Amino acid sequence: MEHISVFDIFKIGIGPSSSHTVGPMRAARRFVERLRDDRQLERVARVKVELFGSLGFTGKGHGSDVAVMLGLEGEDPKTVDVDAVPTRVQAIIRAQSLKLLGGQAVAFGSDAIVFHRREKLPLHPNGMRFSALDAAGAVLAERVYYSVGGGFVVNHEGHPEGANTAASTATIPYPFSTGEDLLVLAEQHGLSISTVMFENEKAVRPEAELRRDVIEIARAMEACVKRGCEREGILPGGLKVKRRAAALHRRLRADPRGSTDPLAVIDWVNLWALAVNEENAAGGRVVTAPTNGAAGIIPAVLMYYLRHVPNADDDGAMRFLLTAAAIGALYKKNASISGAEVGCQGEVGVACSMAAGALAEVMGGTPEQVENAAEIGMEHNLGLTCDPIGGLVQVPCIERNAMGSVKAINAARLALSGDGKHKVSLDKVIATMWQTGADMSSKYKETARGGLAVNIIEC
Ligand code: SF4
Repeated sequence: MEHISVFDIFKIGIGPSSSHTVGPMRAARRFVERLRDDRQLERVARVKVELFGSLGFTGKGHGSDVAVMLGLEGEDPKTVDVDAVPTRVQAIIRAQSLKLLGGQAVAFGSDAIVFHRREKLPLHPNGMRFSALDAAGAVLAERVYYSVGGGFVVNHEGHPEGANTAASTATIPYPFSTGEDLLVLAEQHGLSISTVMFENEKAVRPEAELRRDVIEIARAMEACVKRGCEREGILPGGLKVKRRAAALHRRLRADPRGSTDPLAVIDWVNLWALAVNEENAAGGRVVTAPTNGAAGIIPAVLMYYLRHVPNADDDGAMRFLLTAAAIGALYKKNASISGAEVGCQGEVGVACSMAAGALAEVMGGTPEQVENAAEIGMEHNLGLTCDPIGGLVQVPCIERNAMGSVKAINAARLALSGDGKHKVSLDKVIATMWQTGADMSSKYKETARGGLAVNIIEC
């Protein structure tokens, strides 16, 4: 049984989109690495990239073209210098040439990236075709990849490319595919959900490394919140959306206890979510959680845990992230975390569900209450459409993360106030989300052809 690791779900990367930026960058780099491994690199004179379906529709607004250029130059979403990206891209455009894996220069003119708005490749709405040509124009290699959400990339047969292969081949002690599996494992072995995930991860990497790397994810989320709370101005892309987090942060710091307002904690949670998603929209350093568009919810709820729940500590932060990853893996295996496939219920809905279950876990919930919290987190996001104005991950995305964060906290509280028994199981709500996504018109699946995207003028 395939194990989806916490490091598959949470990847440190670059904004604004996991499926339209992180995935294409990883695919582009993989394409050139394959050329190098096949000893074809020296013969390449030109590269052509075609983006299909949702990537064709909204790839420009999501920075897919930029991601592809940097990926071809060998950059990785985790390590690319985000502040240097605009200068690098200008240099490529000016020279009409880029350096494959940072070495050999090849032609890359204005026609090198083609956005196919009306055509789709068969496996998924986010298809890409890369071609390498020699000096005479003959095709040396052609490969198809799909960016299937959350930065995951698969090849033309649907097999993972660049996934956490150690995790996918290891023998893990507590394999699970469904919420029911998780509950049975927890019951049989007397384990919490986070411990099930922790033991599985320990089969893949040493415990000390595991703890260090999960805490690195938490720190990367906190750093993103901090940067988002400091930066002001207008977000890129032409929609003229003003960053709000810095001003809200100043106001809250002036009255940190919210002495006159019992609901001030909601303002803080809103702030943390806005801060992350503004950083994401600006192309900053962001952790997929499980996607970039929904990247604010888990950090905001994690910050709520660290700042507002008594006795919170790093061990709890680790258990929070492991629980969230276990829940995210259920959606990845049984439905989708791609807005292009199932709408925003697959992004903000999934993040809300993950955060709700994770918070219930670190607030002392039983496995049944954790499962219940995750279920509530999705049940009230069913049918949520993806209709980003101008194809940018800004409106409604930024504010939607604040709404999803507060909803996740409420879902955890509702579940913790019960005994874990409930009518709709997490598995049933995941199946419902998947079916609802299949029935949803493609206008509402990251194509910017419906909803707010057509009712609001982009200026
Ligand atoms: S509307 Fe939701 S799914 Fe669509 S781009 Fe925004 S956050 Fe992602």
